[in-house]
Amino acid sequence: MSDLTGLTLKAALDGLAAKRFSSEEITRAHLGAIEGSRALNAFVVETPDKAVEMARASDARRARGEAGPLDGAPLGIKDLFCTEGVESTAGSMILRGFKPTYESTVTSHLWRDGAVMLGKLNMDEFAMGSSNETSAWGPVINPWRSAGGNAALTPGGSSGGSASAVAAELCLGATATDTGGSIRQPAAFTGTVGVKPTYGRCSRWGIVAFASSLDQAGPMARSVEDTAILLTSMAGHDPKDSTSIDAGVPDFASFCGKSVKGLRVGIPKEYRVDGMPPEIDALWEQGIAWLKDAGCEIVEVSLPHTKYALPAYYIVAPAEASSNLARYDGMRYGLRVDGANLTETYEQTRAQGFGAEVKRRILIGTYVLSAGYYDAYYLKALKVRRRIADDFDQAWLTCDALLTPTAPSAAFALGDKSDDPVAMYLNDIFTVTVNLAGLPGMSVPAGLDAQGLPLGLQLIGRNLDEGTLFSLGSALEKAADFRAKPAKWW
Ligand code: GLN
Repeated sequence: MSDLTGLTLKAALDGLAAKRFSSEEITRAHLGAIEGSRALNAFVVETPDKAVEMARASDARRARGEAGPLDGAPLGIKDLFCTEGVESTAGSMILRGFKPTYESTVTSHLWRDGAVMLGKLNMDEFAMGSSNETSAWGPVINPWRSAGGNAALTPGGSSGGSASAVAAELCLGATATDTGGSIRQPAAFTGTVGVKPTYGRCSRWGIVAFASSLDQAGPMARSVEDTAILLTSMAGHDPKDSTSIDAGVPDFASFCGKSVKGLRVGIPKEYRVDGMPPEIDALWEQGIAWLKDAGCEIVEVSLPHTKYALPAYYIVAPAEASSNLARYDGMRYGLRVDGANLTETYEQTRAQGFGAEVKRRILIGTYVLSAGYYDAYYLKALKVRRRIADDFDQAWLTCDALLTPTAPSAAFALGDKSDDPVAMYLNDIFTVTVNLAGLPGMSVPAGLDAQGLPLGLQLIGRNLDEGTLFSLGSALEKAADFRAKPAKWW
């Protein structure tokens, strides 16, 4: 970790603008950090030549006085985003060797604004997982360790590579995606900030699809303001995604540090679940006290259908996944395992190309969509989804945002839950409701547990009201004054 890699994105952009250092210098500092941190397995593809070339082009633009809002800032890209000419595998063997001929809309916005790509970040296979252990390229390791322990911990998932790289200062910020919590939970596990925007805020075009009605891209970084800067660039209407929202993109950073006096913050009573570590409860209380001190009014709210959210999510998401993943047949992209005939080629390609969790989701998905079970499972889950969205609409009558824990635990050890899918799914208990309702959510690092591991608080907002989340998030950030960093062991 050099001085240049320890900067926030904002400080780095200021330094670049003041010509205190060049993009090539800060990019090379990050490339060095990445090289020295391969033990974390955060990057699956490193693109040093491309990074230096982009950095030099940025320095030339700046010299001409044509620098964009992110000019010269080195970022990491989750491997779910298609990047032109750069291998994009979504953490899956079935996409090994796939080099897209086009760029995702979100990443093209970042390059339009001058950012530099360092490489592609590891993730759970097709973004299915909460621990990064389903990646075909091996798990990502969390730079954080328990006090006195040296067990390898998960950075969370599915955006574990993004979280680990941001926490270990291998990039100034990263892209990530969130279908059921994959930005917020890894942010909480690594002491970083993660924002899941309103569904439709960022274009899904060029992002490998998991569950299309839930998938949403967003940023991860080391400060609330940094995520605001990144989201302003990533967001925006895109005619190539029919669910992209045609709304203006505000300068999200302008909401950071704004007074939150008079904002009503709801505390959903159903989020007090049994068996949650007392420290998480205590941190939640602390968060409430911080927002009160900042002038917010705290109100209790009820989201009565919360208990059905997890089962509904684990029907809707696999149903959509089973349909989206039908396209991987060995004919068009990535892996092909030849069989004696076409059917065998399909079967062997899919048998060898997909990992166990992805196969489980495809099986569940095809089952709940099949004749006879569609009404009992899929249709029922859609009805629950509506109720969950209605719960939030009711809550918005009495409050402007919600405060909850992000996850029911701190980072756990690799292997702890990988044999028990249900235990793994339970980790998403506080995050999936937001995706089912399409709302924006954010995780802010708020403290450490007794083991010295980071814990996050989640803010949930109204549709398209990320602005309020940035204001509340920066109030929490200021009060928590979270400065802890993982001690370097890797
Ligand atoms: N952990 C959840 C799942 O496995 C969420 C994943 C995500 O948000 N991509 O489906």
